[in-house]
Amino acid sequence: MKPKKQFLVEIGVIRRHPGSRREVRLEGVLGELAVSFANVPEDQPIFLEAVLEQVHEGILVTGSLHTVWRGECGRCLMPAEGILETDVRELYAEKIDDEMVYKMTADTMDLEPLVHDACILNLPLSPLCKPDCKGLCPACGANLNEESCNCEAPNDPRWASLSLLK
Ligand SMILES: [Zn+2]
Ligand SMILES: [Zn+2]
Repeated sequence: MKPKKQFLVEIGVIRRHPGSRREVRLEGVLGELAVSFANVPEDQPIFLEAVLEQVHEGILVTGSLHTVWRGECGRCLMPAEGILETDVRELYAEKIDDEMVYKMTADTMDLEPLVHDACILNLPLSPLCKPDCKGLCPACGANLNEESCNCEAPNDPRWASLSLLK
């Protein structure tokens, strides 16, 4: 079960001292975060390192996060995994009139929505098991990373009408 509020940060001290900053290193598990062909597994910790900085509009969060993604290779359909790593730079404010801003209270800010969104936005849309994956034979389905097959080069429908002319 997912523990509550792992990315909650007390900000009372920063807010009482304009211009002050605070560094945070947080780690949490958010449950499965998924896009079509890749996900952050449900028990996979996500690490966030960031500086919280009081600015005129609210608190600016600048840092980076990393975790591990898993998925299915888009070419050979075998399991794939990799590192999800991304920089973050987002604004938190108490009053929100802009969808791009995250909400905080007077004393706390919850970085979980930021972590959630950054993971979702940076999961690969077309994951590969390795950059040079050879994929499956379109004729017999053999995994060309592991075996070769004796199929003819596949007929490309774009050339079919040309061969009729011969
Ligand atoms: Zn592959
Ligand atoms: Zn084949």
